[in-house]
Amino acid sequence: MPPGRNPTVALMLSALSLLFGLASTGCLRTMEAIDPRSLPITSTSGQRLQQHVSFLASPELAGRQPGSPGNRQAARYIEEQFRAVGLQPLPSLGGYRQAISSTIGDNLLGFIPPTAGTAPPRWMVIGAHYDHLGYPFLGADDNASSVAILIETARHLTGLPHHGILFVAFNSEESPYFGKAEMGSQFLFHHLPPEIGRAENFQAVVIMDLMGGVQWSPIKDAIFAAGAEKSPALYQRVKQASSPSLKVFPVGMHLVEEIPEIGHKAFSDYDVFRNHALPFLFLSAGRTPRYHTAGDVASTLHYDRMAATVEWLRHLIALIDQDEAPYGFQADRAEWADEVASFREIVNQAVQDETRIPGTSRWSLRKLRQDAEWLRDADRSGPTPQNRDRLERISIRVQCLMADYSGCFTF
Ligand SMILES: [Zn+2]
Repeated sequence: MPPGRNPTVALMLSALSLLFGLASTGCLRTMEAIDPRSLPITSTSGQRLQQHVSFLASPELAGRQPGSPGNRQAARYIEEQFRAVGLQPLPSLGGYRQAISSTIGDNLLGFIPPTAGTAPPRWMVIGAHYDHLGYPFLGADDNASSVAILIETARHLTGLPHHGILFVAFNSEESPYFGKAEMGSQFLFHHLPPEIGRAENFQAVVIMDLMGGVQWSPIKDAIFAAGAEKSPALYQRVKQASSPSLKVFPVGMHLVEEIPEIGHKAFSDYDVFRNHALPFLFLSAGRTPRYHTAGDVASTLHYDRMAATVEWLRHLIALIDQDEAPYGFQADRAEWADEVASFREIVNQAVQDETRIPGTSRWSLRKLRQDAEWLRDADRSGPTPQNRDRLERISIRVQCLMADYSGCFTF
């Protein structure tokens, strides 16, 4: 039926065409997204990081899906690197591998013992998953980037007085394993090697995911740090740690996991440790439009920032080593003023004509301007449920824009 004959349909169609017409003009002219291939690699550390990612995310490894030959090849590579940088295998495992199952494959574990023996030993865990989705997804940012940082951090560390440092490359983090007993981090937690003893021996667990991506200029040399706010003394260490060319934005865990209209969602290997009330820190540079696509390849990462992250982590680890008292854990704790300050800085850039997030639409921009206004003094009114909800929406809006998802204005 032609539209004119039925007034209701005609009305609907004209409303729709108006909407589509607006949508097509909705994109503002904004600055271009960063082309990662134009970023220089200025250090040996950056070059090494690039070599690790280039191998792990090579077509030859076909996306490192658990149980695949590419996944086993990645495990062999990480094992060789652990050996080359001087990590020790746990005697009870007889090597660097902890088998999850014959169909899935292995976690890889290596450690640096403390210089002064403590009994029972206290441990720091630095972990990142190395599996990915399988071909055609090669998983450079997700999560070869973090495994590369793991290896390079281990290279430059020597024993610390008070803590053993356990480096773990987890297998089977991606779907369909996430949250299940076969997930690498879940498996480790429930099968701790005897040298580690009980999970209470973990002073802090640092988990990295998506550490290499870059998309938006104002935060190209920044990463996000979440979770430490639940352990005040650990949080102070995260704020003290520094690296000359890295900016670290503290964000509350709820700003990562509480999704408006959807609910709570965990995102990485920190989940099992957090659920058992262990002090933890989750580091990420956030999603880019290449997340879980065939475009997530080695040439799209920011290796100089990854090298700065290695420096920053080494400083953080040295700081944590000074703390012998357990950090404790308060599940609902947040650092409201810092969360607001982080997003105030980010959103203030996002509303400027010169530094807008690529792909920002007229509607997103209108909401961002309201956000910027609200963020000016949101720290004064405190973390009421209403305020927390508002900041969670702002966080998702910004993440959504940075990943270039459609529908970012609906949050
Ligand atoms: Zn992933």
